[in-house]
Amino acid sequence: MAEVLTADAKKATTTGKKYVYLFGGGSAEGNAKMKNLLGGKGANLAEMASLGIPVPAGFTITTEMCTVYYKLDRKYPPELFDDVDAGVRHIEKIMGKTFGDPENPLLVSVRSGARISMPGMMDTVLNLGLNDRTVQGLVKQSGNERFAWDSYRRFVQMYGDVVLGLKPESKDEEDPFEVIIHAKKAERGIKNDTELTTADLKDLVKRFKAAIKQRRGTDFPEDPKEQLWGAINAVFGSWNGNRAVIYRRINKIPEDWGTAVSVQAMVFGNMGNDSATGVAFTRDPSTGERVFYGEYLVNAQGEDVVAGIRTPEPMSELAKKMPKAYDELEAIRQNLEQHYTEMQDVEFTIERQKLYMLQTRNGKRTAQAAVRIAVEMVKEGLINKDTAVARIAPEQLDQLLHPMFDFEAKRKVKKLATGLNASPGAAVGKVYFNAEDAEAHAAAGEKVILVRLETSPEDIGGMAVAEGILTVRGGKTSHAAVVGRGMGKPCVVGCGALNVSYAQRVFTVQVGGDAVTVKEGDVISIDGSDGAVMLGRVPTKQPEITGDFATLMGWVDEIRRLGVRTNADTPHDAKVAREFGAEGIGLCRTEHMFFGGDRIDAVREMILADDLDGRQKALAKLLPMQRDDFVGIFRAMDGLPVTIRTLDPPLHEFLPHEDDQINELAYKINRNPERIKEKLVQLNELNPMLGHRGCRLGMTYPEISEMQARAIMEAACQVAKEGVDVHPEIMIPLVGTMGEMVNQKELCDRVAKQVIKETGVKVDYKIGTMIEVPRAALIADQIAKEAEFFSFGTNDLTQMTCGYSRDDAGKFLPYYVEHKVWAEDPFQTLDQEGVGKLVEMGIKLGRRSRRTLKVGICGEHGGDPASVEFCHKVGMNYVSCSPYRVPIARLAAAQAVLAERDAASAEAKRSTM
Ligand code: PEP
Ligand code: MG
Repeated sequence: MAEVLTADAKKATTTGKKYVYLFGGGSAEGNAKMKNLLGGKGANLAEMASLGIPVPAGFTITTEMCTVYYKLDRKYPPELFDDVDAGVRHIEKIMGKTFGDPENPLLVSVRSGARISMPGMMDTVLNLGLNDRTVQGLVKQSGNERFAWDSYRRFVQMYGDVVLGLKPESKDEEDPFEVIIHAKKAERGIKNDTELTTADLKDLVKRFKAAIKQRRGTDFPEDPKEQLWGAINAVFGSWNGNRAVIYRRINKIPEDWGTAVSVQAMVFGNMGNDSATGVAFTRDPSTGERVFYGEYLVNAQGEDVVAGIRTPEPMSELAKKMPKAYDELEAIRQNLEQHYTEMQDVEFTIERQKLYMLQTRNGKRTAQAAVRIAVEMVKEGLINKDTAVARIAPEQLDQLLHPMFDFEAKRKVKKLATGLNASPGAAVGKVYFNAEDAEAHAAAGEKVILVRLETSPEDIGGMAVAEGILTVRGGKTSHAAVVGRGMGKPCVVGCGALNVSYAQRVFTVQVGGDAVTVKEGDVISIDGSDGAVMLGRVPTKQPEITGDFATLMGWVDEIRRLGVRTNADTPHDAKVAREFGAEGIGLCRTEHMFFGGDRIDAVREMILADDLDGRQKALAKLLPMQRDDFVGIFRAMDGLPVTIRTLDPPLHEFLPHEDDQINELAYKINRNPERIKEKLVQLNELNPMLGHRGCRLGMTYPEISEMQARAIMEAACQVAKEGVDVHPEIMIPLVGTMGEMVNQKELCDRVAKQVIKETGVKVDYKIGTMIEVPRAALIADQIAKEAEFFSFGTNDLTQMTCGYSRDDAGKFLPYYVEHKVWAEDPFQTLDQEGVGKLVEMGIKLGRRSRRTLKVGICGEHGGDPASVEFCHKVGMNYVSCSPYRVPIARLAAAQAVLAERDAASAEAKRSTM
């Protein structure tokens, strides 16, 4: 083998690019670090081979070739053909078999492998190399005629589907190969595939080939080399197949990454009852528990386990039935975890008692498992705290913050059945039986649960929009389970008690002797944490941060420097956010308080008043209500700062627009409806978001700001008297000129001092501003002379910098993102090179005038991990986000520190080189 490697290495230097990497026989050309080039699968196969783990020999064609393939209009550079030939010879040499040899044929698998795993999204071909002649060789070598013909039958079926394109053409059509198998079984009066005889299998091969010829117009290729190139083309081609494209879009995987193709000697888990195949995780991917977790099937090929058609057996059974192979596997499990210091997802095959590893990769896991594994690995000494914190994707925490079913409520409802708990969480929705219907109803605003016999990659769109996924068949490593966990969706699989009819769009289930029928559109609740399937809508409750999650968040807080506050307008939200670790309120939008109960009437009365007197009367009604709101919030935030913003939206947002609402209001406030309509016309604006809003209201109606400043300070003084440690911060919105800043600050300051004097309670307060008009960022040095703090309102700042209406961008931004005009929606992820420049400038200028200026952000970006990292970099003091994103922002802030440290140590290394 060494000779082959050297020859190949030479080739690499002559052509400049090496497109084929060999592995097997105890060594490899690649390693685990080369994922970008060899794909996750190829890189890890190489690594395992070098570690001395038994891996069938093979070679990997690089992801770069995928890009070349598309650049050359689906063709290859000529040197690739020689390299692939050399790769085949390398496998032949190690395995002692020859490709196409009718006596002792080498068979190979051809698999895809992107940088990161895209389970089931691309194509695979197994048993390649079989034809009418080599099948005889396989009969001889295996001594098992039925096995050989079953392998051939599977190969023609898979190749016919993947490479030659014989597949269902509509959602109602059954798989054409399955139709032929069913017909055969019906003719023979048998039920199971295992009852098919050798003669049956031979006949099926014939029928399959005839169907391919008839429907696709091509002969099934007998030449193994032609077969191999067909499969390589198909795998590269599947990178741009529908499933892969949708998956990439959902998971934000760039198109130019490409897939690698691994060609590897076949080993057989279906050579009899001393053979098996399985998939396993080195820890439980659902809960994170440190157990060897997996499933296997005796006398089966890999796709049988994942397809979920036969329900596999747990690993504990393997320990009993094949103890030698199990012990070897257990030793490899330990070896892999020590080596990778990560939970691994492995595929293995036992061929006549000999164990082979076919794949290892970092295992996908639920958020719950991710947290537990990270924390336990620190305790086991495998990784340090920084690594644990760096490993959790901030967005993934969202799963842990979603509601769970209320335990008491759940006990009281009718349980229909219990399946396997494949991915935790509570899901409630209407039942739909195929992906297309699920997508259509979700698009119409319904919450849906996708119910399938088993899922396949074609279902990906429906799975993505579903609240939860329920399948009748399949184990915890079935497609539904793996994809469900990857998406963080509650998922229950293998719920065999359900009798699903796709045709009638119902499932029936026996519950205590009664048959219950659930129709399409009926509501069910599924609990991915314990596998329960329940009829109707089961109530949910808030999650809590406890156990491993709390431990991890403790480490997060030790690392991060950026503060995390919350945007909250009610005592309830404030309390929830505080439980999630918020260190204050960064934005309380007072207008949200104006909508409830009889407040809206008083607000409307104020807006509709003809003069100052009328307005003040209405404001006097609002004052005590606002004060009470602030009292509640201050109490909930005892000891922490609370930033309260004065009124921001255009006034007409508070007014009724329908005739019956106008009449009702007229009656309530004793006004003529016609007068109200006239006022509505007066208040109408063509561009309200650029109109009479923000501090422009406080400038023209100072009595509104006065009432609000008074409500804030009266509440603060009241709670301070009770012993609450209160830190009010009054924030002026939409400032763009010094005149506005000076005016509103002077007004609020005057009222605050007045209230302190009246109440005799001394409360420290601050007055600051939002920076959300580009001009404010440009003159931030002047503004900071008055403002005691800045909070970047990046929603409006993005709107005004890009010139995109926040309310109308939905009409074109999705198109822009899809066509890469924007890499990300700038309203979700801060546009660092544009809006970010204004933010940086604002901070720099502001601190030039006021060295200790406190700076935060309160636009939606405050809860977006990439934007949080930016806020850390530009030296903000805090980010503020919605309560449920607080833990996500805390983690992102800690990861920003870790990234900074990594960059610094990389830089230090570079400078000493
Ligand atoms: C902003 O503009 O970023 C902001 C937080 O204010 P609002 O979203 O209320 O306009
Ligand atoms: Mg704003």
